[in-house]
Amino acid sequence: MALTGGFGVSSVRHMIMRFLLRLFFIFLLSVFVSIAQAEDKQESIRALLVTGGCCHNYKYQSKALIEGVAKDAKVDWKVVNEGGRGTRAKIAFYDDPNWAKGFDVVVHNECFANTVDEKYIRKITKVHKAGVPAVVIHCAMHTYRAAKIDDWRKFLGVTSRRHDHQSRYPVKKVASKHPILKGMPDNWITPKDELYIIEKMWPSAQALAKSKSERDGKEHAVAWTNQYGKAKIFGTTYGHSDATFDDPVFQKMIARGMLWVSGKLKD
Ligand SMILES: [Zn+2]
Repeated sequence: MALTGGFGVSSVRHMIMRFLLRLFFIFLLSVFVSIAQAEDKQESIRALLVTGGCCHNYKYQSKALIEGVAKDAKVDWKVVNEGGRGTRAKIAFYDDPNWAKGFDVVVHNECFANTVDEKYIRKITKVHKAGVPAVVIHCAMHTYRAAKIDDWRKFLGVTSRRHDHQSRYPVKKVASKHPILKGMPDNWITPKDELYIIEKMWPSAQALAKSKSERDGKEHAVAWTNQYGKAKIFGTTYGHSDATFDDPVFQKMIARGMLWVSGKLKD
């Protein structure tokens, strides 16, 4: 005979099951919430991008750089695009001796080859020497090229004054275990870009990757690290064309470089 009006054994079991299931879902939800909170707490890097000057499409490059880097690093950016499109500007931004305060890393993607004011140049290098890390891209290497002092070149880790023609250059890793290069394929070929001729690697610098001149077969560092005073520096001479800034290998290398110099690269 069936019981009516009471709780049968099976319906009690059913209620317990539903209760346990509900508990399980609450547990799962709390796990998801705490993972999300942990990710939120993961610190962003505060980055300053200094850009502008001659010969390149800095507006596009800045946008592509910010979007590309976001795939590998959480970054809060401030972009200073000043100095027009000439080769000899001095920007007022550096007048404040604390211009880099609050930033974990400064990315230099500017191009002012004919600015020679030594006091001005030292306003920049002094801050890096004291410990502000930097990533230096392409024409940063020809910036202050006409200056007599070597402070900027010591900061970069390389001296370069000219470049070869545009081509698609194969990149050979020479420090393949270096964490900045993780994810770079062994057979990476750049989009159309310029090969900068490296006259001198400063003793504090270490080449990570090289490319060969199509003119004379000489190899030149195209990615390197440097120690300048208390600061770590990562540099690459590639970055002429917009296509390079759209290249996922280039984007990843810059993101990992930014994390590495600021001591936040985890893998
Ligand atoms: Zn260029």
